[in-house]
Amino acid sequence: MTPGARAACVIGWPVKHSRSPLIHNYWLKHYGIAGEYRREEVPPEKFADFVKKLAARGYVGANVTVPHKEAALSLSQPDDRARAVGAANTLWLDGGLRSTNTDVEGFLDNLDACAPQWDRDLHKAVVFGAGGAAHAVVYGLITRGFERIVVVNRTRSRAEALRERFGKQVRPADWGHDIVLADAGLVVNATTLGMEQQPDLTVDLGRLPSHAVVADLAYVPLVTPLIRGATARGLRTADGLGMLLHQAVRGFALWFGKTPAITAELRALAEADLGTSAG
Ligand code: NAP
Repeated sequence: MTPGARAACVIGWPVKHSRSPLIHNYWLKHYGIAGEYRREEVPPEKFADFVKKLAARGYVGANVTVPHKEAALSLSQPDDRARAVGAANTLWLDGGLRSTNTDVEGFLDNLDACAPQWDRDLHKAVVFGAGGAAHAVVYGLITRGFERIVVVNRTRSRAEALRERFGKQVRPADWGHDIVLADAGLVVNATTLGMEQQPDLTVDLGRLPSHAVVADLAYVPLVTPLIRGATARGLRTADGLGMLLHQAVRGFALWFGKTPAITAELRALAEADLGTSAG
């Protein structure tokens, strides 16, 4: 690297599927910033040692992906957001090792961009899933003042755990009861269903009111069956690639000192990399 250049990375196990290098290296080039963003495949038993030596390895920070997000939280000084969600996906060095969870703003900012004023006068959201991503989604919805967040999860006890964590706005519901959609203003798929080589998330979108917005966190394929169904019904949608791009913004700003823009060119590059188009 050129002298003075900064480096960041994404740490995962596995990590070869990560699109973060494409995003951050695009921004580095776009803004003419001397730097590099790499993939680091690190097994769980070596993660703690890796992040303790982040600076010695030449990094100013890192993204953290599966399965390290909880460990990243416990090994760093988390901000309120990461602590509330219970997982960190972004690390940076600032005196010590600091962390945050940018999935929260990635989810919210993407909705703001795709469906302006989506949260105005909305009282009820339905979230499918209760895993790591659903934690970020539910926390984000609570910060926007949602009164009822129905969490539908195959394993009901995990939905109950979300209620214990976030409070009475969270209403666990049984899997397969599409009636919960009848008066929902927002539907979110935070399960792995609908991803390539996974079964579809089958929900009856016909029950949704016409002002409802549908968000899917999955981005492979880019146009998931849920997004396709919502578009066919004339509903506003927010896709997983948009969330991925928005969640990357803060990390780049922290590491490289510039708040980057999500340009049409970047989105097109990411779509091409996913091997599909917005459809
Ligand atoms: P996770 O912690 O493993 O949670 C997986 C969730 O999917 C759980 O709620 C699980 O239910 C549910 N699930 C899995 N198989 C199922 C099935 N056959 N039937 C019904 N439910 C099933 O995963 P995660 O980290 O939350 O990620 C969830 C999704 O969000 C993934 O597609 C991931 O790629 C995506 N994501 C996208 C972004 C982005 O920036 N776009 C960011 C984060 C995550 P149980 O509790 O019953 O197992």
